[in-house]
Amino acid sequence: MRILIAEDDATIADGLTQSLRHSGYAVDCARTGSEADAALAAGQYDLVILDLGLPKMNGFEVLKRLRGRSSKVPVLILTALDAVSDRVRGLDLGADDYLAKPFALTELEARVRALTRRGPSGASTVLQHGDLTYDQVNRVADFAAARRQGRQQGPAGGAHVRMGRRSQHQCH
Ligand code: CA
Repeated sequence: MRILIAEDDATIADGLTQSLRHSGYAVDCARTGSEADAALAAGQYDLVILDLGLPKMNGFEVLKRLRGRSSKVPVLILTALDAVSDRVRGLDLGADDYLAKPFALTELEARVRALTRRGPSGASTVLQHGDLTYDQVNRVADFAAARRQGRQQGPAGGAHVRMGRRSQHQCH
């Protein structure tokens, strides 16, 4: 499971990164809107945690461009702008959830779990490639499951490449 955190506040970004990595997620960070936009255009993510008040390009614009590329990656908006109109605008632009700062880390993690469990448009969270299946929610790999099921080829062929790919955007 790979998460992009787009947040210019270093304290929040570092805290989130540590906490999510501790929970087993692969985490990349972007400190500006344009950096987030570039990372999203180049990489495959399972979730985006998006601050609205970002330098260079705001979060609304990042979200608009992301959905403009037909990406269905779940987006959790995280921002100090908690006015109803901002919340509505974010959801209208295709965000999946919304959390206003200050927030409790435990609540954020629960929302991350819910969004990654759902996956893009309700897709299966179990990847299959050859004899290997990988349950992304429970993070359990099973080498023989596919053989037991008669070697069915899953819809996520090639996913093993993604799991092994190195991060291009390192967090601090
Ligand atoms: Ca900000």
